[in-house]
Amino acid sequence: MKNRIALKLLMYFAASLLLMTLVSGTLFQALFTNHTMQTKKEEMLRQAQTLAESLSSVMGDMKMGGQGAGYGALVRAMALIEPNVWILDEQLNFLAAGHMSATMLQYADLPEDADTLVQAVFAGRTPFSEGFSDLLGLPTLTVGVPIWQGSVVAGALLLHDGVAGIQEASAQGVRLMALSGLAALLVATLLATALSNRFAKPLNRMQQTAQRLTEGDYQAVTGIRQNDEIGKLATAMDQLSQRLFDAKTEADQQEQLRRDFLANVSHELRTPVTVLRGSLEALCDGVAQPGPQTAAYHSQMLRETIALQRLVNDLLDLSRLQNPAFPIENTTVNLQDALTDVLYSAGQLARPRGIRIERHIPAEPVFLQGDYGRLRQMFMIVLDNAVKFSPMDGEITVMLTSRSVSIADQGPGISPEDLPHIFDRFYKLNNEANRQGSGLGLAIAREIANRHGMHVEVDSEPGQGATFHFIWAAAV
Ligand code: ADP
Repeated sequence: MKNRIALKLLMYFAASLLLMTLVSGTLFQALFTNHTMQTKKEEMLRQAQTLAESLSSVMGDMKMGGQGAGYGALVRAMALIEPNVWILDEQLNFLAAGHMSATMLQYADLPEDADTLVQAVFAGRTPFSEGFSDLLGLPTLTVGVPIWQGSVVAGALLLHDGVAGIQEASAQGVRLMALSGLAALLVATLLATALSNRFAKPLNRMQQTAQRLTEGDYQAVTGIRQNDEIGKLATAMDQLSQRLFDAKTEADQQEQLRRDFLANVSHELRTPVTVLRGSLEALCDGVAQPGPQTAAYHSQMLRETIALQRLVNDLLDLSRLQNPAFPIENTTVNLQDALTDVLYSAGQLARPRGIRIERHIPAEPVFLQGDYGRLRQMFMIVLDNAVKFSPMDGEITVMLTSRSVSIADQGPGISPEDLPHIFDRFYKLNNEANRQGSGLGLAIAREIANRHGMHVEVDSEPGQGATFHFIWAAAV
């Protein structure tokens, strides 16, 4: 069956209904029969006792009046008024019987417990029996009461009454219960179908979504909005697929970056290697004349080797800094010292081009926890760019505060389109000022800043120069 949940629910409902109907039916039958029987017994006993008392008092009067002969007639008259009454003596002889035929009955016709019953009555008790049912041809209850004459029992009055009605009523009750059980089963079937639709549909949807996820379709969503456990499960599943989608997108981006990086590295390596090879071939083949031509080849090779070495060093630095397992020193660094140190080196580069470096460094030291060498390297990269891009006789301003370092130049500035990319690996502008650049400098600077919990910001507009800010949370 397609809808297994519906079948299961129906089976559970049907089983519990059946059990409930059986238990309540049995209980009902037992309680109802018991109660009705009890009421019947009380009523019959009262009636029989009233009859017996009337007989005893009449017999007493007669005895006092000395008219004993009328007693037999009275007994018969009584039996006629109440046809279900038998009056017997101790030997089970009929003194009178409402059932006309009963007086014809012999001792042998009476049921087995008739004797016991009559003896119990003569002993002064009021016993009940159902033993007369066969004899009277229908389910019958019999009560026996003594007819007292003074302190002696003069006769046994047996009152019979049919109990078929009680059994019929009880059977009717059971039938009604069975019918209502069936009706409940019908309702349960409808309910099970409705409920299973409510449960099975979203579950099927989730199963399909899970299937799509296993096939790598991370955009699959259940789209189920329900305020219950199923709804929560569906939401969790949707979140899971969103996470998987994000992870996949990130992995794809990483993969793309890795490929780009490899392509960039190969490209950057190819130029110097080609130049080196060309120069070496010319030298080996003897194409270059000894003297100034050979010297030119040698100096070209030296320049390319230096560029190659710088590129390899930069790559090594970058890959080390990007590796979280690569340790950097963690000492207390006085940024005053670090900047003074860097500015000395930058000054060497700036001076030949008439560039001035304006310093705003406070008198009191500014401390930062970190790696002196790396911080120096970071500031040097930015200062090197500032010098590189500054016009002749330009000015560079370096400012240190308790929570930031800013380096500003008067160069060409950076266009808004380039600005978001200048920290990317191998991103560089191919202009005259930047011929030697590898495009790795700012990427390294940002990694160092990250390692020191610093945030890097750049303010720049084309033609307005550029300002690099290194900002950290609080001074140590
Ligand atoms: P490079 O080694 O080529 O200088 P960087 O990563 O240091 O590489 O810089 C990336 C690019 O950012 C440069 O090519 C240049 O276009 C731009 N840039 C960096 N600093 C400045 C600056 N001070 N003024 C203008 N452009 C800059």
